[in-house]
Amino acid sequence: MSSAFEHDVVRNLIYRQGRYPDIATPEDWYRALAFTVRDRMLARWTASIKNYAVHQVKVVCYLSAEFLIGPQLGSNLLSLDLEGEARDAMRTLGQDLDTLLAVEEEPGLGNGGLGRLAACYLDSLATLEIPAIGYGIRYEFGIFDQEIVDGWQVERTDKWLRMGTPWEIVRPDVCFCVNFGGSTQMQTDERGRLRVQWTPARQVKGVAYDVPVQGYRVNTCNVLRLWKSEAIETFDLDDFNAGDYYQAVEEKMVSETLSKILYPNDEPEAGKRLRLAQQYFFVSCSLQDMLRLMDASHTPVQRFADRFAAQLNDTHPSIAVAELMRLLVDERLLPWEDAWIITRRTFAYTNHTLLPEALETWGLPLMQSMLPRLVEIIFEINKRLLEEVRRAYPGDEERVARMSLIDEQGSKRVRMANLATVGSHRINGVAALHSDLLRETILRDFAEMFPERFLNVTNGVTPRRFLMLSNPSLAELIDKAIGLAWRTDLTRLEALTAHAEDPAFRKAWRAIKRENKAVLADRIQQRLGIAVSPDMLFDIQVKRIHEYKRQHLNVLYIISLYRRLCRDPSVKIAPRCFIFGGKAAPGYTMAKLMIRLITGVAEVVNNDPAINHRIKVLFWPDFNVQNAQTIYPAADLSEQISLAGKEASGTGNMKFMMNGALTIGTLDGANIEIRQQAGEENFFLFGMNAEQAEALKSKGYQPAGYAEENVDLRDALEQIDQGRFSRGNREMFRPLLDNLLYDDPFLVLADFADYAACQQRVNDAWHDEEQWTRMSILNTARSGMFSADRAIKEYCERIWQATPEDIDLTDFEDL
Ligand SMILES: *Cc1c(COP(=O)(O)O)cnc(C)c1O
Repeated sequence: MSSAFEHDVVRNLIYRQGRYPDIATPEDWYRALAFTVRDRMLARWTASIKNYAVHQVKVVCYLSAEFLIGPQLGSNLLSLDLEGEARDAMRTLGQDLDTLLAVEEEPGLGNGGLGRLAACYLDSLATLEIPAIGYGIRYEFGIFDQEIVDGWQVERTDKWLRMGTPWEIVRPDVCFCVNFGGSTQMQTDERGRLRVQWTPARQVKGVAYDVPVQGYRVNTCNVLRLWKSEAIETFDLDDFNAGDYYQAVEEKMVSETLSKILYPNDEPEAGKRLRLAQQYFFVSCSLQDMLRLMDASHTPVQRFADRFAAQLNDTHPSIAVAELMRLLVDERLLPWEDAWIITRRTFAYTNHTLLPEALETWGLPLMQSMLPRLVEIIFEINKRLLEEVRRAYPGDEERVARMSLIDEQGSKRVRMANLATVGSHRINGVAALHSDLLRETILRDFAEMFPERFLNVTNGVTPRRFLMLSNPSLAELIDKAIGLAWRTDLTRLEALTAHAEDPAFRKAWRAIKRENKAVLADRIQQRLGIAVSPDMLFDIQVKRIHEYKRQHLNVLYIISLYRRLCRDPSVKIAPRCFIFGGKAAPGYTMAKLMIRLITGVAEVVNNDPAINHRIKVLFWPDFNVQNAQTIYPAADLSEQISLAGKEASGTGNMKFMMNGALTIGTLDGANIEIRQQAGEENFFLFGMNAEQAEALKSKGYQPAGYAEENVDLRDALEQIDQGRFSRGNREMFRPLLDNLLYDDPFLVLADFADYAACQQRVNDAWHDEEQWTRMSILNTARSGMFSADRAIKEYCERIWQATPEDIDLTDFEDL
């Protein structure tokens, strides 16, 4: 007897793909299975849409230039509780579910933490049954695939759409025109009102591509709506002559370029013309779509902020403030004052960085040529803002200059963080320390003037993907120990605390960690040909490569440890495997050099017979969501070693903690809260705090002195200098060494000694297996507050005023 599920898979194989079982490849089976799962989501999706329309609910619109959603099949099976059924059905059809899961190409529509956060939040919104739409860009080429060739990063284009994707549904009818360039004219309309007409030089069409976002074990299925750019009309064949024909083709190409590629820079801004065009493009489409939904439900536009809460994920979508004003004033003919109240009630802004090089600004001439009407609106917003500042702080012209939306020093630039801030009723940072620093530094003047608008919402991650899906054996062990309640309320993990004292439970806990490490070790052997034992301490640093994240601090320690083992082979240490992963922005030379240093050290250490496999070093290529799912569960130690004050929150740190890794880290971002939750005795703390780091810098930091003082540090730097890790080439790492010795903006050398001492404490703790396991269990047990569900509840209550909506499936079930 074949199951309905199995029947549907075969039907999809034949009727949607024109294949029959005997010749079907794993790719074919994957797609047939994906369609089968998608069909089950579509019932919930249409039911959700209908419920939202009928009940006129408030919808959260999460505006983000990036959504790093990861592979979809596994998480959808989990949410729908279909994994067992799917596995059985595919087995009957001669297919292995895990093989099919591995076939999926993930949509790499994000760089790292920020894009992944957006994806986690969509997951939680759906799971908490909050009506929501994610709005973003359907990049044809997402973040590049990383390969390592001769130790260097090489970028390959990400062709995730090569075979199409079963998870999107194109909506050719949901499309909008977006203006670019041209000029504006003032006119008086028939009722004597002043109106501005924008005559664009060109228009681009945005078409909606929808990806369903299924909540965990609920009926709610929300949507991620991604915009693809297209030419307005395929050129008119009636009146073309040769010249116009080529012109028309070229215009079509330019239009289609807009959503072509994701900029691969993580923190610093690219500042590229096309990037601004992308931002305006997706924001304009999204706001026009929201107005369309208002119209469709016959709601007057005055009620916009009652129906939508729009969150700006960093400043990338912040032009939305000016665009909504344009739509309300120019197109819906609202008075400026009314439009401004609506706009500020609608938007809230999440800041993600304090790094000065990452703060977005756009040159005024560029903006004026591309978005002339928007610049006029920004000037008007600014005029009113500065009047208000002058009223509140008479005579304080320096304050006026700091708060202005326009940076007047040098060539004029528009400050997007200031625009996002004035246009929002709530502004939040992403961890307690970060929100404090935000109020004290870059947004200080705004926080002084509007203190009630500022708050903190510490980031979170989805426990569905990063615990239940990534680490199913651990999830099952937790189920057995404390029941199922933790799956929908992660704070219930607290109940594991008692089990930390149970030797049998600890043994089972260890066995699962060891098995996860064995799986990773297998993959390492297959992909890199490096043999690592799952009995080693797995010490892992995976994240974008960045000087502020200080992968080089980790490497310097490894070199010093290696040298110690060379000097005295009898030294007893915990055998350790140091694992790195992460992409460097293609134009970020120093980050690429840091990768080369890691692979150089790996080559020497792994092949040195004197080391006798006591330490291994490796760089895992192409760190993405799929890889992440096997890496986090295999970690014993989580490296969170950024310079204090630089990492806004971090979310990788939370994923490691949930999976029972101990953290070695600084007092930076959410590490501080992780340590508070875990208990300081269950966290390896080192380094300066943010205040000390600032103090050291302002008194004139001289890194070379630290190298002179510390023999291990000096020796490690000398080894690099002598070409030990560059096959004798003494020039290769020169820029990195010079940077550390003469500038060291992230205080690597200053923190080295304390880091090395802390690593020694890690080493000692590892020898007490039972105690280590106890600490591991306590870390998981106390990771509840880092669920994205907690974060989303805070956003709902404190920012969005959004409430759950029960989805009634009855009309849809029996179709
Ligand atoms: C979680 C995650 C990140 C963010 O890691 P951090 O350690 O917080 O910088 C980046 N990339 C991927 C693929 C992730 O899953």
